[in-house]
Amino acid sequence: MKIKILTLFPNMFEGILGESILKRAIESGICSVELIDIRAYSLDKHHHVDDTPYGGGAGMVLACDVVDRAIAANTTDKSYKVLMTPQGRTYKQAIAKELASKEELVLICGHYEGFDERIRDYVDDEISIGDYVLTGGELAAGVVCDSVIRLLDHAIRKESSEEDSFSDGLLEYPQYTRPVEYKGVCVPEVLVNGNHKLIREYRLKESLRKTYLRRPDLLEARALTGEEEKLLKEIKEESE
Ligand code: SAM
Repeated sequence: MKIKILTLFPNMFEGILGESILKRAIESGICSVELIDIRAYSLDKHHHVDDTPYGGGAGMVLACDVVDRAIAANTTDKSYKVLMTPQGRTYKQAIAKELASKEELVLICGHYEGFDERIRDYVDDEISIGDYVLTGGELAAGVVCDSVIRLLDHAIRKESSEEDSFSDGLLEYPQYTRPVEYKGVCVPEVLVNGNHKLIREYRLKESLRKTYLRRPDLLEARALTGEEEKLLKEIKEESE
């Protein structure tokens, strides 16, 4: 997969792309990430990219002609162009999966007070990473890059991402590692005695319990199997 990020601050991505799983995925050719400086598409001799808003008001607005040229020069019919904006659809694991299936993803980062409304005509999608306002789209694009790249084949073990929270509509079950006892708190017995059938059942039940207690909205949106219905009934009785 190819990812292109159109930004005024390419250096902001050094840390995100230069460490851990993302670094390895890029080095091993699972994906490529190209940083494109929007400022290079300004025709102004001082490389201005923004201007004051029509009608007055605070801040500067990213100009549509500069961004249009940056998009046109760096995309083809195969590109899926996404504008990072607090006004977009709220980002979720299901959207990360959708984006991970694209051949080429182009993430466009706004900055300042925002961008000229007409830029919306040049993209395929608009994504918000949550109901709060960031200084610029760079952190949001970083979040999208990270969550998409880890879903690509061979970036991490498939079982690992399949069991993550949200992947099947539930939060993940509790995880433990050595030591078996820490400050008087022990790892649940079932996880150390090697019975895989019981471990699977324990994990499913605890996954349902966490989701029921922390994110009941996720359960409402999910069709439960017979086994899950039975376990959830037990959980409700246990928490009374
Ligand atoms: N005035 C704009 C508004 O109220 O919608 C917010 C502009 S914000 C200060 C500057 C840029 O940061 C936006 O154009 C967008 O690219 C990015 N941004 C801010 N919050 C974001 C969020 N929650 N999700 C995605 N991008 C965001």
